[in-house]
Amino acid sequence: MAAIRSICRHVLRTTSAPSLVTRRSTLAYSSAALRRDWTAKDAGAGGFKVCVCGGAGGIGQPMSMLMAMNESVSELSVQDVTMAMVPPGGVAADLGHLEFPSKVKGYAIDPSKPAVDQLEACLTGCNLVLIPAGVPRKPGMTRDDLFNINANIARGLVEACAQFCPDAIIGVIVNPVNSVVPAMIEIYKKKGLDPMKICGVTTLDVVRANKFVADATGKSPQDINIPVVGGHAGTTILPLFSQDPIGATLTPEQVAVLDPRTQDGGTEVVEAKAGKGSATLSMAYSGARFGSAVLKGLAGTPTTECTYVQSSVTDLPYFSSKVTFGKNGVEKVHEVGPMNAHESERFKQACTQLKSEIDKGLEYAAAI
Ligand code: NAD
Repeated sequence: MAAIRSICRHVLRTTSAPSLVTRRSTLAYSSAALRRDWTAKDAGAGGFKVCVCGGAGGIGQPMSMLMAMNESVSELSVQDVTMAMVPPGGVAADLGHLEFPSKVKGYAIDPSKPAVDQLEACLTGCNLVLIPAGVPRKPGMTRDDLFNINANIARGLVEACAQFCPDAIIGVIVNPVNSVVPAMIEIYKKKGLDPMKICGVTTLDVVRANKFVADATGKSPQDINIPVVGGHAGTTILPLFSQDPIGATLTPEQVAVLDPRTQDGGTEVVEAKAGKGSATLSMAYSGARFGSAVLKGLAGTPTTECTYVQSSVTDLPYFSSKVTFGKNGVEKVHEVGPMNAHESERFKQACTQLKSEIDKGLEYAAAI
């Protein structure tokens, strides 16, 4: 719904049909709503090239659509493998008919061959690369199996970025983010590249926390901005309700429900889809919101989102907290900020779990 609502707002704002203009003038936007209205012209100057790796997948297709609708995007690469459910060239042809400035091109690679040998045209000139490419967990697959498969896929793509667009911001969506991101950053460091170019996309946790607080309080989600810090799985997901004026009004009983609900949002969707799908649409919205923040920053409007990066704001080397994107990408990694007693207790729990997941990523990179 959020994506659809945002798309509708965008259409209202960019059309010149008189009836729609009249409707538009009757719409009341709060300043926060405008701040979040990320698909539109206010995303900043145009001319950016964006790639979605895994762009023919469940997340990749709707996220590619939302990025194709971002008017600061002049070129969009939809990349996937030759045996993808839908050829990425077909996704690109479909999106290429949308009435937006972006030129959309599809790129299919043979995954049995190195990605770096196949992605020069796809990645050269990219300012932003979003990576939901990977495989979901299948029956019989351990968490370690999943990590190794997805880390290898991400590695191929990240090594190609290192070759063809080393200045691009890379938003890693493929799970397990807590381990894949440290592994990819260590690979960048070994190559002498800037580790702050790689970010783990945790925006979905913020989006869920905002919506759940809105539902519980009867307020608009557009007026709520709950920082979610730590990592991007289970107890490592730490929503800091106390730091938002509306979130701070929650009772301890409400927090006792919404904290675990934010952590388990993915399971809620998988169960509601009866195991036939996972959180693809809300993730696509969240990935596009993250992408918009990066592009706004690059265009000269500093923009802040929570994201999982190399960090020194805690004792852990990787941590998610508010990050401000500017003209060169990550401009500032913000402190975690004040926490109440419940959040401080949860912070300790989150750090213990996150440390072991970071270590797994570091072990992977050390073995390369
Ligand atoms: P999906 O299987 O529908 O799509 C994945 C796509 O990646 C497929 O099209 C597949 O062909 C493609 N792919 C595989 N290997 C590739 C390669 N080498 N190069 C390019 N593309 C390749 O899965 P999905 O539902 O879109 O989820 C993708 C990933 O995102 C999963 O790991 C999932 O756990 C993760 N996820 C992350 C978040 C988050 O908040 N960060 C939320 C939901 C899901």
